[in-house]
Amino acid sequence: MKAVGYILLLILLSCGKQSLKKSSTTKQNVSALYQAQEIRVKVYYEVGAEPYISDNPLLEYWTILEQNLKALFAGRKIEPQIRVPKSLQEMSLIPASGDVSWSIDDVLKLSNKTATSSSATTFEIYFLNGHAAENPGIIGFHIDRTKIIAIFKDVVRSTGTLDPLQLVPKYVEQSTLVHEMGHALGLVNNGVPMQVNHQDKVHGSHCTNYKCVMYWSNEGTSNLMQFAQEAASNGTIIMFDDKCLKDARSF
Ligand SMILES: [Zn+2]
Ligand SMILES: [Zn+2]
Repeated sequence: MKAVGYILLLILLSCGKQSLKKSSTTKQNVSALYQAQEIRVKVYYEVGAEPYISDNPLLEYWTILEQNLKALFAGRKIEPQIRVPKSLQEMSLIPASGDVSWSIDDVLKLSNKTATSSSATTFEIYFLNGHAAENPGIIGFHIDRTKIIAIFKDVVRSTGTLDPLQLVPKYVEQSTLVHEMGHALGLVNNGVPMQVNHQDKVHGSHCTNYKCVMYWSNEGTSNLMQFAQEAASNGTIIMFDDKCLKDARSF
């Protein structure tokens, strides 16, 4: 896993934190999530937009999201059970809606008619055909003050056009999931207070550290390649930096 996994973690990680008519002073209330015994991720995918699943059981892509979520809660008084599906059998196929340009309202409507469980600690991730209406270049977004995330599969796939092994889009998909779940869980300074200042205010709820998955960037820069090399040499798949981890662990 190491050798291939770290070649590229963050290329084209594109942020999509979308505001939902909020005043800039109102932060998310994520307290319940940090007191929960269980955090569950439910995945719904349109026909044609299915998530990447490895056919090698020793190299399951979705463990990347799982491990990063576990890392946020490590050492807390309550370390919740993290339930992340790893196979398509554990995810839900939904009919293709025909929508290829998704507004926040479109995603909310889809959630209203689709979600089968609405527990306070269940996240819904939608894999959709097409792209975000407001910004067609972003890979995904979290809808502020909800537990709803959209991932745009056509944009994920587009990151693999120069990659014969097709590894890039797999890691782009997972790193985008980690990034958006970070927002949904209150990072950076969006419900979880900072222990030290590391918010890139110009870009909203993002981390100032370019080596952190919560950094705002939408280009595959040399900085990001450097990140990947460092991750390879120290053998970690945890994409949050210490400041983001500390915020969550101290909350
Ligand atoms: Zn973001
Ligand atoms: Zn960070």
